[in-house]
Amino acid sequence: MLLRITKHGEPILKKAAQPVDFNAAGEELPKLLRDMWSTMYAAKGVGLAAPQVGLSLRLAVIDVKPGEKSDPIVLVNPEIVSREGTLIEEEGCLSVPGIYVRLKRHERVRVRAFDERGRPWERTGTGLLARAFEHEVDHLEGKLFLDRLDIVGKLKAAVLLKDLKKTWT
Ligand code: ZN
Repeated sequence: MLLRITKHGEPILKKAAQPVDFNAAGEELPKLLRDMWSTMYAAKGVGLAAPQVGLSLRLAVIDVKPGEKSDPIVLVNPEIVSREGTLIEEEGCLSVPGIYVRLKRHERVRVRAFDERGRPWERTGTGLLARAFEHEVDHLEGKLFLDRLDIVGKLKAAVLLKDLKKTWT
């Protein structure tokens, strides 16, 4: 099932998400994840966090290589354990469709999280994967990529957003 993606301006995107409780989530987690994957791939995104589908949960999915080299990663209750270097690249977000900005992020990011069955994992991402780790964990803290822009960037984005918002559903 495709889920509606929440958009910039909706309160849930500004809220810190609640940790996933595996006992309480039980049967619903696999179904929710299936829907999140379908929604992310259908929207041609490389990452999707639960607040983007209206749920305040520390849960996200990432696949920076959709297609043949697909590398799907489920992040439950993720924490960033280290960040190194910097890289400026263009970045966008399914919750802010139509806006892409050059943004400074870390080049190498190590994340600790759980998979869908509650097994802990740790992984270091570089480049786009590092960016996706930071972007999705930001969502779980109630932050959007636009919040990381400087004041000039924020003003430019505000002008664009005014017109773009009329086209969103
Ligand atoms: Zn996003």
